[in-house]
Amino acid sequence: MVNIKKFSKFISFIALFIFLNNINYIPVSALYTENHLKTVYLTFDDGPSVNVTKELINILNNNGIKATFFVVGDYANIYPYMIKSLNENGMCIMPHCNIHDYVSVYKSEENYFKDLDKCRDTIESILGKRNLNFIRLPGGSNNTVCDSNVLSKIKNRIVRNGDYYIDWTIAAGDSEAKDLSSEFINSRIKDEGGLYDVEVVLMHDLGDKYATVDSLQEIINFYKEKGYKFKTLNEIENWEIQYLKDINVLNK
Ligand SMILES: [Zn+2]
Repeated sequence: MVNIKKFSKFISFIALFIFLNNINYIPVSALYTENHLKTVYLTFDDGPSVNVTKELINILNNNGIKATFFVVGDYANIYPYMIKSLNENGMCIMPHCNIHDYVSVYKSEENYFKDLDKCRDTIESILGKRNLNFIRLPGGSNNTVCDSNVLSKIKNRIVRNGDYYIDWTIAAGDSEAKDLSSEFINSRIKDEGGLYDVEVVLMHDLGDKYATVDSLQEIINFYKEKGYKFKTLNEIENWEIQYLKDINVLNK
């Protein structure tokens, strides 16, 4: 009897050993693709704003790079000239929401899409018809403000409509506290940036976000030194879309 017990223990051990050896561990290097192309999408939410948008455009222009702005329709209505300026400077403009009020936007699926349509209408009324197929959900696609059932209905409908909702691979942290320093943002990027072949950086374009402005040059330097190409979502390629899906950053 004792031998049978010992034998079954031995069998369990062997089974566990075989199981552990067959788990597909994903090494960090698997985050890199074989083509060794690296792209970074700098994205700014919540604009346009009266002072910060201008400063961001200047820094981006000085570096000869473009970024994507997820704008708020309400602010676009107040500062249409900033939307025009973003467009004239080759920046990509995509919808964030019309009114930046999570509770009203996320009250229901219908509310969400009404708000999104208004935001798109506002952009189109300023710039004419355009492709606005990338969406940044307020608070991101994992936010806990929206009821989880409503949120999954919203996300499913966005995908059914052939659009993309996109989160980020790294948050610069510029919305995480008031009076943030640019040093805080830059050390966040240094610590957590550059892990993926396709990076999406979340930043904010708001009236009081001077730390974002002050940190932007160093963020650009960081990605330049690592060999990343700067692109806007208007230029995204199919392999990048698939890559971002695989790492749960896009239409997850
Ligand atoms: Zn926002």
